[in-house]
Amino acid sequence: MRVGRTLPPASSPIHWGNILNGIAALFRTDSERVRFEAELKRYFGRQGCFLVSSGKTALVIALQTLKRIRPGKSRVVVPAYICFSVPSAIVRAGLDVVLCDVDPATLDYDYSNLEQVLDDEKVLCVLTGHLFGRPAAVDRLRRAIGPRPVYLIEDAAQSLGGRDADGYLGTAGDVAIFSLGRGKAFSTVEGGIVLADDQTIRENLSSVYGCLSEYSRFETTKLLLYAIALKLLIHPWLFWLPKALPFLRIGETIYDPGFPMRKLSAFQAGLSENWEEQLTALRDKRAHLARHWFSVLNGAGEGTNLRDSEHADLIRYPWRIENAARRKWLLAESERKGLGIVGTYPGSVASIPEIGDNNVYPGAEQCVDQLVTLPVHPLLSARDIDVITELIHESKKLCGK
Ligand SMILES: *Cc1c(COP(=O)(O)O)cnc(C)c1O
Repeated sequence: MRVGRTLPPASSPIHWGNILNGIAALFRTDSERVRFEAELKRYFGRQGCFLVSSGKTALVIALQTLKRIRPGKSRVVVPAYICFSVPSAIVRAGLDVVLCDVDPATLDYDYSNLEQVLDDEKVLCVLTGHLFGRPAAVDRLRRAIGPRPVYLIEDAAQSLGGRDADGYLGTAGDVAIFSLGRGKAFSTVEGGIVLADDQTIRENLSSVYGCLSEYSRFETTKLLLYAIALKLLIHPWLFWLPKALPFLRIGETIYDPGFPMRKLSAFQAGLSENWEEQLTALRDKRAHLARHWFSVLNGAGEGTNLRDSEHADLIRYPWRIENAARRKWLLAESERKGLGIVGTYPGSVASIPEIGDNNVYPGAEQCVDQLVTLPVHPLLSARDIDVITELIHESKKLCGK
């Protein structure tokens, strides 16, 4: 266990002003949630916006809505390499997970496999994820779906405010979800957003959303204390402490369909005050660091092995390291020195026993074995950046490329 300055892999700091506004929101009625919803609708140019307690909850109500519209269908196609929250939400919605392999060069679907997976009458929808903030090719997925009656869900959990050539991520799918969790692009401690434009989807979403309960007073108080603790402990000089407490499960990706589902509380909506301005500032800082890592890796003749990473609104900078010994050394040194370089998901979705898929997904396995992410958040000091840069060079000297 490390005691001392420790960087989290990703972070969206919450300001004291936001916490005070969140507390003030507890004494008003619904107005903060209504404000946040209206601002998001305007920002994205979408007519439907629903605010909930997590990205997972957002995905569950999106899926329940699509199931209501097309009750005969029950299968959800997802990339075999994605956050375990995704299969957790699908199982929670009472639907079946169907996997398709990914291309490690893009982290997007392996399109040579996808059409075959889609040719199945039971498929309700296909989900694509903008992992680490790198835009997935939604237009290409739309073409692959073709005339099939299959919905497209954009998992933009990691990319609030991110853009591609067609505009904001989350506006090209039939439904999109975002996360407002710790370590996502913008945070209200925990929270999620569902966006949709189509009238049928919006009307059904509205009914499904109406069935969610509110946070209880006890839960809101817990959340408030957690926000304050987070505000204090996310500081690099203190972050080793929560990281060392096993019950907080910091940095773990777990499969668990039993999570609580609520409407976003007034407190959380209050935390979002000035989110557009703060998100822009966060994105500028992250983009600056992402360009730095890009030039460090390219300057060292490494390449990034990932196309276009320098252009995206990243929340973590993904880097594929093919040399297993080097990757292992780098991760161990990062852990020892508290530098926030980490591996990504602990396995492919097929590695979750409850999913019951015994096929092998070589692209997904490669992502699990090779990817690490470099931190790009605003808590990095100039010295942290130098130490990480030096470590990258040293790892190459010691272990080879
Ligand atoms: C974080 C995340 C989620 C879930 O969001 P929570 O707010 O943590 O429930 C879903 N999908 C992806 C790709 C994520 O990164």
